[in-house]
Amino acid sequence: MKRRIILLGPPGSGKGTVATKLQQQFGLNHISSGHLLRREVEKGSAIGQRARVFLEKGELVPDRIVLQFMGEWIKSAPFDKGYLLDGFPRTLSQAQALDQWLASRNAPTEAVVLFAGDLKVVRSRTTGRWSCPKCGRVYHIDSAPPRAAGVCDDCSFALTQRTDDTDAVVRNRFEIYRRHAKPLADYYRQQGKLTVVDAALSPDERFAKTVAALN
Ligand code: AMP
Repeated sequence: MKRRIILLGPPGSGKGTVATKLQQQFGLNHISSGHLLRREVEKGSAIGQRARVFLEKGELVPDRIVLQFMGEWIKSAPFDKGYLLDGFPRTLSQAQALDQWLASRNAPTEAVVLFAGDLKVVRSRTTGRWSCPKCGRVYHIDSAPPRAAGVCDDCSFALTQRTDDTDAVVRNRFEIYRRHAKPLADYYRQQGKLTVVDAALSPDERFAKTVAALN
């Protein structure tokens, strides 16, 4: 099974749910740039202070900030179990930088799975989404509820809703995603690594298609 993987797709396309399952079943090392950035914002670190306003508005954090932050992270992350990148890269220049970092670590990406969906599909996903502020695990009130209402299955923390999952911010995030989606997909398609999965499928079907693409 391929273990060095990138997941692409608009907000609410189900990347996080599939990533959590891949992590649980195959022990893959899930790295979510959004989760890492939210953690910095909560800590009030220098990076968090610079990134906060962009997260609140649903704008992309500028490349110079994200590249510095994710570059440090990826250069020192343990890759013995592979990696599952979720939310990074989001622009062509991030993808190009990432390829260089991964080449220097001798850990090139083996597969890229793109969850493709329109605004209608992603809106219903984001409004019902809850996540754990501690471990980042993502739930959905209908399709992936926690065992006990409002509490993370893994670490028993109270679940919260993201402030950028409001309707207006989701629309903005979707538009921004759309702007960058094609060059990014073309980049990985040209490398022969891209598989497209319909984001409108159920979580189980999305997971099965992803596993099939990795085998
Ligand atoms: P996500 O959890 O992936 O939806 O990311 C939440 C927010 O974090 C995004 O709306 C951006 O503000 C920021 N973010 C996460 N990853 C990136 C990235 N690769 N480039 C720029 N901004 C990002």
